[in-house]
Amino acid sequence: MNDNLLEAKEISKTFGGIVAVQKVDFTIPRQSIISLIGPNGAGKTTFFNLVTGIYTPTTGHITFDGQPMGELKPHEVTNRGIARTFQNIRLFSNMTALENVLVGEHLRLSTGLIGAVLRTSKVKAEERNARQKALDLLEYVGLGGKGDEFAKNLPYGDQRRLEIARALGTEPKLLLLDEPTAGMNPNESASLTRLVDRLRRERGLTVLLIEHDMKVVMEVSDRVTVLNFGRKIAEGLPAEIRANAEVIEAYLGKEYAKTVAEEKGKN
Ligand code: ATP
Repeated sequence: MNDNLLEAKEISKTFGGIVAVQKVDFTIPRQSIISLIGPNGAGKTTFFNLVTGIYTPTTGHITFDGQPMGELKPHEVTNRGIARTFQNIRLFSNMTALENVLVGEHLRLSTGLIGAVLRTSKVKAEERNARQKALDLLEYVGLGGKGDEFAKNLPYGDQRRLEIARALGTEPKLLLLDEPTAGMNPNESASLTRLVDRLRRERGLTVLLIEHDMKVVMEVSDRVTVLNFGRKIAEGLPAEIRANAEVIEAYLGKEYAKTVAEEKGKN
């Protein structure tokens, strides 16, 4: 088995005259947490869409779990073992938390039409298992006891956790999180960071993260890749990235570099 779950070779994506992603080489080792950072418009979302097969690269190619990625429909992406959460939360707001997770799991159920109509004992057992698994997932992400609440009534931080539980319901190998801590207070962010770390440690998941909160990125990532104007301008350990002059210039800013230097001085 290859150690890399995903490998992208010289991938580019152009829209008309705009080069959104330009000749990017990228790998995601199995059971790693990799972060993608960069200023607005740097190409991060386009990159996510390439990795999830929503876009095909204009040039270059991607392999996932040893297989080439073609252009895939959303359910095919899920079938391949890729799940994601969104920058602007996309839950079924009028369904309960439990139902949202069951929707995620649905793709993995084997019930055919006839079984569903006749409600055979096999189908009933499968439904019971799915329900128990959904309850376990809710508990795991910190939403134990909230299964019957409508998604829209959950506090914002809980909605983000529910999106993760729904993604886990599809039994992914790779989980993509698009700004999972956006809009969270520092306590919620810290707690979500711990959850991401547990996903890898306890469930063996591989995670690709787009995140603007540098505290989260620095704490949880094994490796950070920086995009700017569609190009990869740096890649390395969190400590290397925050000391990288080009990254400070393009994204982190001199203020951030100063704060880091001051913190170092204090320790
Ligand atoms: P943000 O942090 O604001 O989400 P980003 O790093 O995710 O930004 P992208 O959304 O990938 O950046 O955009 C990269 C570039 O590609 C931008 O110039 C954007 O306008 C352009 N772009 C992205 N998607 C499309 C599209 N479907 N059609 C045309 N141009 C696009």
